[in-house]
Amino acid sequence: MSDPLSERPAFQPSTLVIHSNRVYESQSNSILFPVHQTATYIHESVGVTKGYGYSRGANPTVNALEQSIAAIEGTEQALCFRSGMAAITTLCMGLLKSGDHVILSEVIYGGTTRLFEQVLTHFDVQYTFIDTADLAAVEAGIKPNTRLIFAETPANPTLRLSDVKALAEIAHRHENVLFGVDNTFLTPLLQNCLELGADISMLSTTKYIDGHNATIGGSLACHDAVIMDRLRFVRKIIGTIQAPQDAWLTIQGVKTLPARLAMHCSHAQQVAEWLEKHPRVYHVNYPGLASFPQHALAVKQQKGFGGMLSFELNATTDESLRFMKALKLCTCAESLGSVETLITNPATASHCDLTVELRERLGISDRLIRLSVGLESPIDLIKDFEQAFDVIFGGSK
Ligand SMILES: *Cc1c(COP(=O)(O)O)cnc(C)c1O
Repeated sequence: MSDPLSERPAFQPSTLVIHSNRVYESQSNSILFPVHQTATYIHESVGVTKGYGYSRGANPTVNALEQSIAAIEGTEQALCFRSGMAAITTLCMGLLKSGDHVILSEVIYGGTTRLFEQVLTHFDVQYTFIDTADLAAVEAGIKPNTRLIFAETPANPTLRLSDVKALAEIAHRHENVLFGVDNTFLTPLLQNCLELGADISMLSTTKYIDGHNATIGGSLACHDAVIMDRLRFVRKIIGTIQAPQDAWLTIQGVKTLPARLAMHCSHAQQVAEWLEKHPRVYHVNYPGLASFPQHALAVKQQKGFGGMLSFELNATTDESLRFMKALKLCTCAESLGSVETLITNPATASHCDLTVELRERLGISDRLIRLSVGLESPIDLIKDFEQAFDVIFGGSK
């Protein structure tokens, strides 16, 4: 059977995620592309294959996921990895050499910090943490050996934003400086970094792309075929490719991404507005609130405000942690972007490695609470907060 959609017209995102990787499986006509759970592939005759040799290099199911990711990134090619960290590691091993220098957002995923501070430093890769929201500071931080600016926006857990278009312009004014964005919090559907001028878009697919807490995975996308070839080569050498079963599960997640993101954004906005009005809440970080200092930048570069927020109570750290524990519907767990609402205390979890002084300067206080707003009804989420406020502070409000 031939594929009636083989011409792939320019679909809207919600159509694209369902049909972009529709590959007909001619043996059975199954509507879902199968899991090609195989290590190797038969040679038709010596040296003649159908393009697949060994699943550390490429795999049809992983390829199908890569087609989906490339479609939402709005580019030709994407590469999928065993984890988000495997994607970042492959990016660094593929593009950097010893003596090179990297500029990193000062508020960035803890694993990225540890990769540079405790692993890449042994290979003499140099790095500087800079507030990438401060464009003059980034410009001033570029050295003759700077090869990469790697930013995270919105940053975890402060939601601090960096101007993607402006950072791309700064990078491209310098020879040999590439600009990559960790776009895990928004995905290309809410913030298309390649379109805004970034060279590389990185995602932890573990989060919104999968959306169901079923897999660990990551991706890289880039318009430049030479860079993609290099990254594909390094992935094959170091063996960081995604596994077929996890790729298959992630493909099912991508199909509902636009629908889920719309709900995540709407629920987070409702919860953020409710929290902001609550007398026991001191402060809410959510780019969708008019009070958010970079709200205008969010409106400019994002197509939605996302499902992540953080807040501080008008309370001690101890009361704040007891408040988290009193929640029944919000689940205390690491990770984000899933159907379940997850709540964490960054100071004791993701950012426990940072010194107290640094955390305070970055706005990650001991009492800061991070919320990944899920797909449960906001009515039930707000009720859960109300009962936890009652438990910790009595009915007094
Ligand atoms: C989770 C996460 C990562 C790392 O991804 P893994 O899939 O856990 O390896 C990187 N960046 C951000 C922003 C993340 O949330």
